[in-house]
Amino acid sequence: MARSYNSPMPRTVSLALAALLATSAFAQPPVSGRRVRRLLIHNAIVVDGNGTPAAGPKDIIVENNRIADVIALDPVAVARAGGRQQIQADAVIDATGKYVLPGLIDAHAHLQEERGGRPQPIEYELNIWLACGITTVRDVGSDTKRALELRRMSAEGQIAAPRIFVYPMFGRPKTVQEARAHVRELKQMGADGIKILGIDRDTMQAMEAEAHELGLRIAHHAGVEETNAWDDIRFGTTSIEHWYGIPDAAIPDGVQHFPSSYNYNDETDRFRYAGHLWREADPERLSKVLQAMVDAHVAWDPTLDIYEASRDLQRAQNQPWFRDYLHPVLEEYFRPNRANHGSYFLNWTSTDESFWKENYRIWMAAVREFDRRGGLIGMGDDAGFIYQIYGFGLIRGMELHQEAGFHPIKIIQQATGNNARILGQEERLGRVRAGWTADLIVVNGNPLENLKLLYPPPFGGVEWTIKDGIPYHAPELMAKVKKMVADARGATR
Ligand SMILES: [Zn+2]
Repeated sequence: MARSYNSPMPRTVSLALAALLATSAFAQPPVSGRRVRRLLIHNAIVVDGNGTPAAGPKDIIVENNRIADVIALDPVAVARAGGRQQIQADAVIDATGKYVLPGLIDAHAHLQEERGGRPQPIEYELNIWLACGITTVRDVGSDTKRALELRRMSAEGQIAAPRIFVYPMFGRPKTVQEARAHVRELKQMGADGIKILGIDRDTMQAMEAEAHELGLRIAHHAGVEETNAWDDIRFGTTSIEHWYGIPDAAIPDGVQHFPSSYNYNDETDRFRYAGHLWREADPERLSKVLQAMVDAHVAWDPTLDIYEASRDLQRAQNQPWFRDYLHPVLEEYFRPNRANHGSYFLNWTSTDESFWKENYRIWMAAVREFDRRGGLIGMGDDAGFIYQIYGFGLIRGMELHQEAGFHPIKIIQQATGNNARILGQEERLGRVRAGWTADLIVVNGNPLENLKLLYPPPFGGVEWTIKDGIPYHAPELMAKVKKMVADARGATR
């Protein structure tokens, strides 16, 4: 069987000589931040974003911002092709002994230029994202105008940043008319979708109907509200964020057994008793909710990383990257403070942690059940809150998906191909496939053996992140971040 190559570039096949030269004899590695006309990633083991096993070695040819070809170099493929081809390239990344994955997608991100009212440079977040191998983020609530501007600058290659999909926070419309009008307004502004959080049933129904007409997808952070997963199922929500709304929909009495003193607007109360929510869901009813989500094509982006402090506060407060990479503005925001959303750890007890540990066990089992029933699971980290640094949170989330029982191949699929589907971008993002956008990461080591390799250097093994064909050298990005943090600390202390 002959291989056919769809690349427009002419190739010189020179048999044994080419094999000897191994394509990289004279080629230089790329310069970080500079796209070349033709980039070769040589001799990589590939883990694609579609759940198929690792395969290689392969050459990946990137032309401008597209994957032009993926060529197998295993002995059988080379024999069938009648030898190796010599591939001309302007720059070469030698990926011998390394793994290449599609760029990761963070489906629950927030563009943040301030925390607690204090400015924090956007480059801090953007650089860490890239160094974590994140080439796409779905922004689910920030300053919308600024997010649209950053989206454009990223798309035009003016800033080192992942590609950005903007899902503005919807707010709480007073009437059905207002809800519909606001959807049209966001469409006109250029939003890619909408994030809803805290909404009444009638306005949710109206805004979803309008959004479907205009082709806008919807991410729903349900909270403990009037609406729950049954409404997402009925109205056609694209993805449920976090997990609220799912166990709530399976509580036999319809309302959680809150103590009489409970106040939803007290975040310590809210997050403490959220830790009791999964245990109150009836397993049989929960299965019905999960199946109905599958049937209605409601995806689930559980963001497992972002509540981890609730089950193990000490771990969350002592992450090794805090020493040199935690921006002082973010550090201050993380400190327990009633005025900062997510900084609710006032008198957090061993009892709270053990409830949350049980909460996680039931939650993880539900995520697994949803997958087994055929549900679409994505991944996002919601970082910038609750002791999670941007990007690091997504990798921690991948570890937690492994704890939940998923195979690493599947976890990589959740963070790439599945997220691309949630975004409606599955025909151009989330794959290592000819014709797809050149969003790729080169990892020194095997992430299927150890997902921690996906942390940025010096903690993990991400070497190159290629976004839209532009290669970024992860160690350089992290060196910038480290300096940014050191300078900010020097200025504030
Ligand atoms: Zn969020």
